[in-house]
Amino acid sequence: MSSRTDVNTLGEFGLISHLTASFKNRQPSTVLGVGDDAAIIATGGDEQLVVSTDMLVEGIHFDLGYTPLKHLGYKAVAVNVSDICAMNARPQQITVSIAISNRFSVETLDELYAGIKAACETYGVDLVGGDTTSSNKGLIISITAIGRAPASRITRRSGAKMGDLICITGHLGSAYLGLQLLEREKQVYLANPDMQPEMKPENKELYAAILRPEARTDMIDLFAKNDIVPTSMIDISDGLASELMHICKASKVGAIIEEGNVPIKQEAQLQALEFNLDPITCALSGGEDYELLFTIDPKDVEKVRFLPNIYISGEIVGKDDGITLHTTGGNIHEVKAQGWNHF
Ligand code: ADP
Ligand code: MG
Repeated sequence: MSSRTDVNTLGEFGLISHLTASFKNRQPSTVLGVGDDAAIIATGGDEQLVVSTDMLVEGIHFDLGYTPLKHLGYKAVAVNVSDICAMNARPQQITVSIAISNRFSVETLDELYAGIKAACETYGVDLVGGDTTSSNKGLIISITAIGRAPASRITRRSGAKMGDLICITGHLGSAYLGLQLLEREKQVYLANPDMQPEMKPENKELYAAILRPEARTDMIDLFAKNDIVPTSMIDISDGLASELMHICKASKVGAIIEEGNVPIKQEAQLQALEFNLDPITCALSGGEDYELLFTIDPKDVEKVRFLPNIYISGEIVGKDDGITLHTTGGNIHEVKAQGWNHF
């Protein structure tokens, strides 16, 4: 009798490895396949292409109860562009595929596409294709982004070395707390539809972080302008802990993170405390901030030290030292994977 294995036994990354392990690349132009933020493809010239795909599913990745469609369109592009940034490349084209149920009108889809268009303008990318089909229930958006960079600038997850500094491009935890606020307001509304949701203006940036994140194309330009090539890089979609583990695994190293040097906005700190959460836990395990996590050779420290919005938050150590958090209180904790479980 054939056996049946639940996908949850493997987890998201275990499942990807299980499904793709037996595939061999046969094209010399395939420089890097599965396993990074984007695949790398040779063009024959000095530049290489990077290609990445992400899918957003209603009810899993977004809730139309509190997500404006225009924001959703913008975010769907931003999260794909973010993966191109994670390779230190410039995004150039996207394709957009949608599956829609008959619940969606032309007007609703116009809203979605207004957001997609706004993001194309922000990031300077062209919409060059896609696919449109029906779904039994809900909305699914799948976007592929294509970027380009000189081969010598493309940055993988696997290049971190002992002694490298760990840097983060912006505040973490805000998106997770924004999501918790929206979920709380939704529950209040469901319990009593006459209650108006309470969206405090002081939490504006937390809502913006989850509903309308930006990809850090500005950082890619800043790196180029200042002649910086990170030794490794990844975008923070699943929380600092999970992304740091990807870099450490791919680079066969360990890491130390200094709690006091992890950037967390004050409004996020305050909101975390109101939810009885530790702010650093929100940064480590909350997702969807879409900042970049990268490592640099210590010889480049003077180049990044005075750049705006770059926080030096830790150091790469040997593999055997594992991944640890040095708390402001002087304790050392092992960092464990607590990323999202999508299944
Ligand atoms: P990210 O979080 O940066 O979007 P993922 O964790 O989604 O990356 O994917 C990790 C790697 O696995 C990427 O190289 C991605 O292209 C690849 N991948 C994910 N799902 C599949 C799949 N079903 N088949 C082949 N490759 C996949
Ligand atoms: Mg990524």
